[in-house]
Amino acid sequence: MIVKTIKDKGLKITPQRQLIGEVLDGNKTHPSAEDVYKKVSKIAPTVSIATVYKTLNSLADLGVIQRLDVGDGKAHFDPDITPHSHFVCLNCKRIFDISTSAPLPDFGEEFRVVKAQAVYYGYCKECQDQKEE
Ligand SMILES: [Zn+2]
Ligand SMILES: [Zn+2]
Repeated sequence: MIVKTIKDKGLKITPQRQLIGEVLDGNKTHPSAEDVYKKVSKIAPTVSIATVYKTLNSLADLGVIQRLDVGDGKAHFDPDITPHSHFVCLNCKRIFDISTSAPLPDFGEEFRVVKAQAVYYGYCKECQDQKEE
């Protein structure tokens, strides 16, 4: 719950934050700011895209949500802030959560790895099936 995370962090619940929380909670599609704006404008038509951008970025900066860069030039937002990796389908462009059980890489003495968050690229099951037909 985004609103709960905001409270737990001792941050202020503004109407904008509440709204973004409503739209983003439980969302597993990793929407861009534009996608979030489309949903927000259905609930609150007076909220501008600039406000949505600002609120999303400040929530990400505060660690309430996660900002994700998958290399398509847009920031995507994820309400799941636990470390997890992502899989980007090169055909349908959807972003999936994946959990890998791969061991953390060992870079020797110089760098000690404590977590890894990777973005993998390829084709999702649906797109693979389409190609075979
Ligand atoms: Zn796909
Ligand atoms: Zn995710």
